Amino acid sequence: MFKQIKKNNQWISLKAARRNRDAYKQLFELISTREVPGLSRLLSNAQKEGWSASKTVAKAELAIDGKYHPKNFTELDKDLAILIYELGGGAALHALNKAPIMLPSRHTIADIRCQHNLRITVGDVNISDILENIEILFGDVDPGDCGRVCITLSQDEIAGDGRLCYLDETDEIGGLCEHAMTKLKTFKMGEDLTSVEAAVKAIRAGDIHVGKEFSVAAFSRHAPTDYGAKPVLLMPTCKKGSTQSSAEILQKLIHAWKLSPFGEAKHGPLKSIASDGDGRRRAALYLICMHRQVGRDDPLYEFLSDLAGLNLYTGVDGLTMDFDYKHLFKRLCTLLCSKEGMLVNGVVINKALLGQWLEKLTGYDWSDESIHALLNPKDPQDVPRAVKLLCLIADLRPLDSTEFTPAEKNTHRAISLLGEMFDALVEPFINPALSLSEQITSLIKFAHIGCALFIKHEADFVSNQLYGDL
Ligand SMILES: [Zn+2]
Repeated sequence: MFKQIKKNNQWISLKAARRNRDAYKQLFELISTREVPGLSRLLSNAQKEGWSASKTVAKAELAIDGKYHPKNFTELDKDLAILIYELGGGAALHALNKAPIMLPSRHTIADIRCQHNLRITVGDVNISDILENIEILFGDVDPGDCGRVCITLSQDEIAGDGRLCYLDETDEIGGLCEHAMTKLKTFKMGEDLTSVEAAVKAIRAGDIHVGKEFSVAAFSRHAPTDYGAKPVLLMPTCKKGSTQSSAEILQKLIHAWKLSPFGEAKHGPLKSIASDGDGRRRAALYLICMHRQVGRDDPLYEFLSDLAGLNLYTGVDGLTMDFDYKHLFKRLCTLLCSKEGMLVNGVVINKALLGQWLEKLTGYDWSDESIHALLNPKDPQDVPRAVKLLCLIADLRPLDSTEFTPAEKNTHRAISLLGEMFDALVEPFINPALSLSEQITSLIKFAHIGCALFIKHEADFVSNQLYGDL
């Protein structure tokens, strides 16, 4: 009797094992022949919840039919989805959400993407908005071992969508340019359509504009950690503001940094303002950063007072202006690639001349890019190309001049001088092996050659603005 029961039991477990084996076979066949969306996440769920093989098969079939979406995304899945969304936009992410890799949808990543709810400027720039953004972005930043450090404020424009939006927190219309604050009575939506109609009418009449760009101002810490630029002002603009309004905005930013307990008090004083080559902002920077000279009472005086020719004018608390060198390299290249070019000791160094002389460079691999492409850039914002052109002009210096005609020798001398100047300018930014002293020595050499040529040729060498910024 007992033997019979044992036999039956064995028979039952054998049957179960066979069933199980068949289910595993079926599962293996399914995943090796069909694309199961989100397979790794499905298997991880199966493991976690202890599904049987047949339940896993059933779930995999549901996933194939689009009726089961395993959503236990890993950090990598989410990071990948955010990257795809930033690079390829909504359409690219949608495609990869529907593909077997089944990345998280835009909806799923929306909450993780929006780490900070920054205030967007509506109408006039408010110090309270800037203060709030400073708190959001700098409140949690640990000043670290170095404590308070020097801070840079930078400002530039980025392209926007060129559309209006509704800001539900403040019931306002966002996205209108700076003109709107003088032309519209209110930005509040209110209870009816009056303000929307007023805005539409003013836009149609061309009195105000939908900001196609955002003026962004950011503070960054000169510290070993967390040194990225953190945007505290996001302002839609049509880029038609005045020098005066530009200066007022900068003053508000400076003031906000001083006022905020998460600004100067916690992270250190503002020491420089960086900008691109925007004309109105340049003028504003001269107003703010050029009104007092470093005097005897200043701790920097003993180091700087002997340096002949150094601009010792600063703003309040030693604030200086700083033009982004990437922009300067691009502007130099734009000038070189023009017909007017740069005049150096009687030689006009322009696109045509450079085209002829770059051909003389031997041992240079032009397979990636032709001389023509280098001198006729499709994208004037291409910084690596600009640096390459400046370096190539420096490479023309060692050309063997023994066979040159007297006219060619004269031209080569001028190009070599310019090359020497560009080398001294670019090297500190592209050669990480230089020490700080070597970088400064090189920039001073650049400043001296540039100064001599500017005194000699004035605007035929470079424009006053570009010379000033350099
Ligand atoms: Zn406007």
